[in-house]
Amino acid sequence: MPGLNFLSGNETADMKQNLTIALSKGRILKDTLPLLEAADIIPAEDIFSSRKLIFDTNHDNIKLVVIRATDVPTYVEHGGADMGVAGKDVLLEYGAKGLYEPLDLDIARCRLMVAGMKDAGEVEGRMTVATKFVNITKEFFARQGRQVDIIKLYGAMELAPIMGLADRIVDIVDTGNTLRANGLVPMEDICYVSSRLVVGKAALKMKHRQIQPIIEQLAAAVDARKERSEQI
Ligand code: AMP
Repeated sequence: MPGLNFLSGNETADMKQNLTIALSKGRILKDTLPLLEAADIIPAEDIFSSRKLIFDTNHDNIKLVVIRATDVPTYVEHGGADMGVAGKDVLLEYGAKGLYEPLDLDIARCRLMVAGMKDAGEVEGRMTVATKFVNITKEFFARQGRQVDIIKLYGAMELAPIMGLADRIVDIVDTGNTLRANGLVPMEDICYVSSRLVVGKAALKMKHRQIQPIIEQLAAAVDARKERSEQI
């Protein structure tokens, strides 16, 4: 029957559609690649020693793009990539509505915190907070009914209280070494951060049968990694 042939032709095409995965460069990448490898997605060349932005993989139809972490949700939401890996900090700050977040990859774990100078007392009146996470900071203090002035910075947040630019900072804390080295201490916990797999809404609809097995294989890889680390 022509109708059925047409349908099965479409299904075959669906299985072979091109799939692009956006990866955050930097510290997340090092932990992401072994998970992808466990899900049988292996870059055709060494990403770290290349200046390329797009990488072929062991699958003809799967490509990896390696971009700034803050650009990953933009690419995935607008269909420039079908899926991606980004930190929860980046996702919260971006505030994407067109993204599914099906899996916590349990890598690059850290916390978002409010920090200040070790000997800083209570701030009288309006507090000034320096951060690159403007939206998260606004929402955190608004939820508590505290009014703050936010100063947007792009890096080295720890410097702001030292130089008298801000009373507090909101930044990522892992070991706490960066804060300590600059005479700062963590003061309030905002949220737990780890890297998440994100999938574009359009991609999940159009390429569901391709994407679903990848999510499942990555989930199995995450579980296996957790089990290994619990045994150590
Ligand atoms: P630490 O000194 O170990 O507390 O690390 C703090 C600094 O490392 C922060 O200022 C961040 O810039 C960076 N950092 C640590 N962990 C992460 C992460 N999971 N994602 C992004 N940046 C991180």
